Amino acid sequence: MAAENLSWQDALKKLEEGNENFVADKLDGQLNDSSRRSQLTSGQQPYAIILSCADSRVVPELAFDKGLGELFVVRVAGNVSNASSIASIEYAVAHLGVNLIVVMGHESCGAVTAAIQDVKESPSLNHLLDQIKPAVSSAGSTDVNTVVKKNAVLNADKLISDSEIIKSKVDSGSLKILSAFYNLGSGKVDIL
Ligand SMILES: [Zn+2]
Repeated sequence: MAAENLSWQDALKKLEEGNENFVADKLDGQLNDSSRRSQLTSGQQPYAIILSCADSRVVPELAFDKGLGELFVVRVAGNVSNASSIASIEYAVAHLGVNLIVVMGHESCGAVTAAIQDVKESPSLNHLLDQIKPAVSSAGSTDVNTVVKKNAVLNADKLISDSEIIKSKVDSGSLKILSAFYNLGSGKVDIL
């Protein structure tokens, strides 16, 4: 049983404060040093899970101004909820007691663009893009950022529909899932 963790409301507040620092070029750079590393050798208690794209321009620890052991970050192109990403998230929910999940898409996502263009390049890529296609067909637009936002919302929903562990915590009110959009230029994270 995980120790008491931050409520999702308190976790969200910490993310919002950190993002304000990042946007203002005022990163605090805390919790990244040797004493923090030592503190964490016996365990971890992150308070937010971020499902993010793998894009090099989107770095959750920087975007939310957070140090070691604060965020449980799962990254895959197109921030899709699939068996592997869901399993990682289930671990953090069930065993680390995390109460907040943010599914974060980003401006001008290459994976989403490829899905819109129906790119065929390799079996693995095709498999990944197939997981983004529901957003393409339901967004009602081929504008990449519109589809990115739809994709974040659909994958947030999928965490609940495809995981009994996640669904039961959401139903009980302890776990919150939000979808978000990261703006490349400003660094601002908009909750959708
Ligand atoms: Zn991307």
